[in-house]
Amino acid sequence: MARHLLSSLLAFLLCLFTTGLAAQGVRDIRLAEHDGFTRVVIEADSGIRARVHNRSAHDNVVTIELNGVRSLPSAVKTTGEETLIRGNRIDRAPDRRLALLHFRTSGAVQVRDLELAGPRRLVFDFHDASEVSRPSASPGRRPRIIIDPGHGGSDPGAVGRLNGRAVYEKDVALAVGIKLERLLRQDPRFDVGMTRRTDVRIGLVQRTQEATRQRGDLFISIHANAVEGRAAQQRARGFEIWTWNRQANSSAAARAMEQLENRDLGVSRENNRILTSMMMDALESQALVSRRVARAMEDRIRAHPRFRGTYRGINSARFRVLEIYDMPSILVELGFMTHPEEIKMLASDSFQNTYAQVLYDGIVHYFEQADPNFPRSSSRVAAGR
Ligand SMILES: [Zn+2]
Repeated sequence: MARHLLSSLLAFLLCLFTTGLAAQGVRDIRLAEHDGFTRVVIEADSGIRARVHNRSAHDNVVTIELNGVRSLPSAVKTTGEETLIRGNRIDRAPDRRLALLHFRTSGAVQVRDLELAGPRRLVFDFHDASEVSRPSASPGRRPRIIIDPGHGGSDPGAVGRLNGRAVYEKDVALAVGIKLERLLRQDPRFDVGMTRRTDVRIGLVQRTQEATRQRGDLFISIHANAVEGRAAQQRARGFEIWTWNRQANSSAAARAMEQLENRDLGVSRENNRILTSMMMDALESQALVSRRVARAMEDRIRAHPRFRGTYRGINSARFRVLEIYDMPSILVELGFMTHPEEIKMLASDSFQNTYAQVLYDGIVHYFEQADPNFPRSSSRVAAGR
């Protein structure tokens, strides 16, 4: 009897143990083609470790070794459009909880990896080796900054009042955007594009599509804030930076903006599920870069005597206008249209130069930090005049 009890207990413990380990699975392996690279995403539990063999693929095979694997999908999901990966094979050694994923490449590649959370994803980006070794500051390929002045046309954005007349966010955003464009054009290290240069209304998705069409390297959307209620209007002021986050923000202001445009992404029904997870992978890895851009911008705002005292920090929300798969993106709120002092600054032509200058300085600072080959500024470009 005692022996029977003991063996039942052992069986029970063994069952618990194996159930725990069985959670160490690979749920999904997928490929996706991006602008300039091919991405492998492995959705896997935390116990699974990955190692890349032959990262530079001299013999045109890159192998990703997975350890601690209890379960694995039988095939890699692919759309068949991948240019750098020509084929794949999965080898398993279940007794050693080992899996080898072999990817046949079209030539020499460089593999860069990163990890995303919730669900955990191991991401491997295959870049063409000849493209990677080319310095980014080579002639003809300068970073292209896409400036997106918020609102426009029948959509005025936030409305402020100055000396009895209305001041519109759409006009402030456009004026600062055009001044920023001028600064970037004067600097031979940059290319620049705009989503709008006139007082027209364009949708949020159209703005992101325009950024992709213009092959931007950084997207910056320019806005000005507003609050309701007299007490809040006296109080709320200052520069604020936003980046994209898959979690919807809990603040009312962020929710209102999220609701502005919420139509679907226009992907076919059968590919919807796989493309959506691929899009999430892409957006989240861009968001990591976007936060680096935001921090560089923040450095310059904090160094500025007019902005440092009122600076509100970096926030994130699920802004559709920042849902761009192939470049980092930030949204800046220059200040509050509803604050009695800030509306004077926002509406002033000379102070709009100051806003443009700090945005320009933040962009330069980011590229100087991010790319050791990026040429350092020889002479400071001055605003406006
Ligand atoms: Zn706005």
